[in-house]
Amino acid sequence: MESRRKFLQKMALPALALPFLPSPSWANLQKPFISPYQGPVLRVAIMGLGGYGTRVADAMKDCQKAKLVGVISGTPSKVKDWQSKYGIPAKNCYNYENFDQVKNNPDIDAIYVITPNALHHDQVIRSAKAGKHVICEKPMALNAKEGQEMIDACKQANVKLLVGYRMHFEPKTLEVIRMREAGELGEIKFFQGLVGFRVGDPAQWRLNKDLAGGGSMMDIGIYAINGARYMIGEEPVWVTAQETKTDPTKFKQGVDETIQFQLGFPGGATASCLSTYNMNNLDKFFLNGANGFAEMQPSTNYGPIKGRTHKGELSQPHVTHQTVQMDEMASIILEGKQVVVPVDGEEGLKDLKIIDAIYQAVKTGNKIPLKS
Ligand code: NDP
Repeated sequence: MESRRKFLQKMALPALALPFLPSPSWANLQKPFISPYQGPVLRVAIMGLGGYGTRVADAMKDCQKAKLVGVISGTPSKVKDWQSKYGIPAKNCYNYENFDQVKNNPDIDAIYVITPNALHHDQVIRSAKAGKHVICEKPMALNAKEGQEMIDACKQANVKLLVGYRMHFEPKTLEVIRMREAGELGEIKFFQGLVGFRVGDPAQWRLNKDLAGGGSMMDIGIYAINGARYMIGEEPVWVTAQETKTDPTKFKQGVDETIQFQLGFPGGATASCLSTYNMNNLDKFFLNGANGFAEMQPSTNYGPIKGRTHKGELSQPHVTHQTVQMDEMASIILEGKQVVVPVDGEEGLKDLKIIDAIYQAVKTGNKIPLKS
């Protein structure tokens, strides 16, 4: 067999001609050689091959530590497409009736549930019972009671439960959190979170209370709740909320169109937020402390996220959120990595408790105390 040295010598000969190549190719050859990742890889099956599932699958192509290896779907034609697009073997394909059998499949480590909200509870519990780690899209469930049951089921099955909070890994978001923690904004006084879009097709599951569990609050308002918590860095102790509905035909009973809500925090800070299905391009966070501010707009969409503080523009690089999220989640599951802002089931439950209280505040008109 040809020795490694001889092989390298042969390879070096054509390189003599390289100075005559256009400079970009030459520049590429100057890049330091980075050895490919060789550590453990989380093998993931995606459940629910819809809009967001597809985005996650595409982003996972660039992951180092996570790999898409399976699907769970109610649509055979999509399964076929995904098999050929992502190289998924037939033995890793399931439907909603038979996916409990995944427990006999040693080639799948985790299931990522990306289905309509109302299905998460049952699907996460079944995945846990099949002995697989579970990543669940937001909102983790329809209410705190369901969320607690999911946490308990995963604990009992000795599997990890994570929630798809992609912003917890976004570089500009993490920089604002670092600045706050370093005291660069001073004592935090106020947060504003405005999130929304105009929802389209009235027949979609997002406008069906049984599948969505509510309206804009479940879908997009949760970003302002979650953002208020990670931006202020405390858990709220009370909530007040008011609902406005301009189109009761489209937004039926139990499906909120617009809700404004306010949160009070133990350190004295307050948050003023708005969640809506009736305004496009509404995506803004504003945080103010005694000594400075941070503002981000857009603050939660797929990016690039833009932001500035009293010290200037935020210049952290744009990343594909779902690629970084899945690599980080693989590290959490496989190596027990600790992250700056948690993404575990308890984190999802905290948001669900606040959502429960917001709906109660809307219904009663009362200020609702929150227990941690
Ligand atoms: P889609 O409607 O695009 O896809 C949902 C998929 O779920 C369907 O394509 C279908 O896949 C499956 N499904 C199973 N049962 C049903 C049912 N009864 N009705 C409709 N679909 C069903 O929704 P999204 O992908 O936009 O949202 C899915 C989840 O992801 C939601 O919880 C949402 O909140 C979350 N999400 C998170 C985002 C984020 O940035 N973190 C962004 C967007 C959504 P199949 O045919 O394969 O069975």
